[in-house]
Amino acid sequence: MIELPEAIVISKQINDTLKGKTVRTAIRGQNPHRFAFTGKFSDKEFSQILKGKIIKKSWSNGNVILVQLDPGYLLSLGCGGERILYHKHNKTIPKKHQLLLEFEDQTYLTVTISGWGEVRLLESKDLNKHPHIPFEKADPLSAEFTFSTFEKLVDLLPDKKKCSAKKFYITEPGLRGIGNGVIQDIFFLSRIHPKREMKSLTKGERELLYETTRSELQKMTNLGGRDSEKDIFNNLGGYQRIMHSKAVTTPCPVCETLIKKQQYLGGTIYFCPSCQTIN
Ligand SMILES: [Zn+2]
Repeated sequence: MIELPEAIVISKQINDTLKGKTVRTAIRGQNPHRFAFTGKFSDKEFSQILKGKIIKKSWSNGNVILVQLDPGYLLSLGCGGERILYHKHNKTIPKKHQLLLEFEDQTYLTVTISGWGEVRLLESKDLNKHPHIPFEKADPLSAEFTFSTFEKLVDLLPDKKKCSAKKFYITEPGLRGIGNGVIQDIFFLSRIHPKREMKSLTKGERELLYETTRSELQKMTNLGGRDSEKDIFNNLGGYQRIMHSKAVTTPCPVCETLIKKQQYLGGTIYFCPSCQTIN
C-alpha cells in the first residue's frame, strides 16, 4: 500500500521523469475496477480532456500523488494498493491496467490497482474538495508538526473514550498519509504496543514516539520507500522493514522474544511482546 513515504518518492520520480511531456492518448477503464476512484468525469471525458495536456509538475499530499496537467486539471493517483509504472517502451505495459497514458515521445505511464486506488481527474480549482486528502489531519513530516503539536493531539483525546496508539495514528485523529504499514516499525522502535492507550504514555514515551515517527518516516522516504513497495521504475524501496509478516515467530532483534502477530482494527499488527509494553 502506498503510504506517506512512497507517495513522496513516486511524486518526485514523476516530477523528474514526466515533467514537460505531452499526453498523446489517455485510456482509463480498460479493465474496470470497482475500487478505482475516478471522480466526476467519465472515462470518455477523461480521454478527451487529457489529450494534448502537458505534465507541469507532481507533488504529494498524504498518500495521494498529484500531477498537474496544464491547462487547468489535476490527475490524482496513489491512496492505496497501486502499481504506478513508467515505461520507456510499450513492451512492458501490463495486459491489465486501470490507466494508460501515452506521451508524444512514445513513453508511457500505467496504473494497475489492487484493493483500491486513485485514477481521478479533477479540475485544479477543486483540489481543496479532494475526498481522499484529509486536510484536517496533521502531516507528520511537515515543519508544523512539532512535539507540542503532537502532545496537543494526545491531550485533546476525550478522557472517557479509549484510544490506542494504532487508532490514534490511523483514525482518531489520524496522521495524514499514515496507514497500517509504516506504523509497525515506528511502534517497535518506540517500544510502544499498538494497543497501548495513548493517554497513558509518559512524557518520555511521547517524546520517543514523536522523534521516531519523524525520523523513520524520513528514513523510509530517503531510502526510496519500504521494501514492500515498488517505485515507477519497478524497483523495490530500500527501507528494510523490521516488523512484517515474515518476521512472525522469528526472534526480536533486541531481546530475542519471538515476534507475534494479531488482527487489530482492520489489519494485522506485528510486535515484540516483551519490548512493546501494553500498560
Ligand atoms: Zn523484543
